[in-house]
Amino acid sequence: MTVVKVGINGFGTIGKRVATAVDAQEDMEVIGVTKTRPSFESEIARAKGFDLYVPGDRIPLFDEAEVPVKGTVEDLCEKADIIVDCTPGNVGQMYKDMYSKAGVKAIFQGGEDHSLAGTSFNSTANYQESWGAQFSRVVSCNTTGLLRTVFPLDRQFGVEKAYVTLVRRGADPGDSKGGPINALEPSVKLPTHHGPDVQSIMPWLNINTMAIKASTTIMHMHTVTLELKNEVTTEEAIEVIRNSPRVRVVNSSSGIKSTAEIMELASDLGRDRSDMYEIVVWEDGIKSTGNMLYYYQAVHQESDVVPENVDCIRSMCKLCEADESTRLTNIALGIPYKR
Ligand code: NAD
Repeated sequence: MTVVKVGINGFGTIGKRVATAVDAQEDMEVIGVTKTRPSFESEIARAKGFDLYVPGDRIPLFDEAEVPVKGTVEDLCEKADIIVDCTPGNVGQMYKDMYSKAGVKAIFQGGEDHSLAGTSFNSTANYQESWGAQFSRVVSCNTTGLLRTVFPLDRQFGVEKAYVTLVRRGADPGDSKGGPINALEPSVKLPTHHGPDVQSIMPWLNINTMAIKASTTIMHMHTVTLELKNEVTTEEAIEVIRNSPRVRVVNSSSGIKSTAEIMELASDLGRDRSDMYEIVVWEDGIKSTGNMLYYYQAVHQESDVVPENVDCIRSMCKLCEADESTRLTNIALGIPYKR
């Protein structure tokens, strides 16, 4: 079996999750992760058995802290078949030349522009478009969330127009900076970037998005209104959403009334870091009248893109077809698989 050598550049919120997820697959291995300074996260990386690579000018910092490093970021690029770039937004673009020079494939994240990679990725919607590519970009958490439900509904019923309001978490739980503490902050530049980002994968979709930043850290929530090309019943829409990959349908009568209970559910499921990889849709919050469809969905910003990164590696390294990759990734991460 081909085992793909994966390097993770940036071991933060997304990078450490992608590293764990890659490590759980049989057809890929983590050959190293990068850090820019010694920290509790560099200790965690080493404790998990991941070799540390650092920017050349930072080696003295690690030497001083007596933290062993295996080499520089350039060295990691030379050894890897593919780099998953999980550096902060707009930092990835600074590394593109290094990846090109080393001839290594690279996956960027949603904080970079679509144009940096030229191809954007979502497992459900366009797995094949990254097949064999040198560069691709896994779209952001919110865009991934929208594609997981809107793409299957569009394929089944046809979407004439999509109107989405995103209530966004102010900061990640591990952050002690940023975000409104006791306020709601509208994104006044309309449409927000989320609609155009969905169009990087579904260019035909007529979508408008608005967003409000809220003083919560645990999840985003979307209200989605779809004008469909045909009339559908609520039951027909529920059926499509229920059968969509990496979408979990819950009912508020089961006690899941908010994002708080979703996080509790993820913890009870024994997920790594209590992550909820699936997009969660409330069944009793799905409503259709004529050709208008309304629903709510919750997005765990720290983890929904993680299985997509694993699938993107398989597509770019031409390991297997979309269904098989989704199946393998889901089994390894404990996500229910729907054919
Ligand atoms: P983060 O700040 O948590 O982690 C970034 C990591 O990169 C940190 O470990 C940091 O030390 C490291 N880093 C910083 N500068 C670097 C450099 N020059 N070279 C190498 N490493 C460097 O960021 P994150 O939240 O994990 O975001 C990473 C990417 O994922 C961004 O593009 C972001 O938009 C995207 N994303 C984030 C979320 C989220 O909710 N956090 C969700 C989906 C996508």
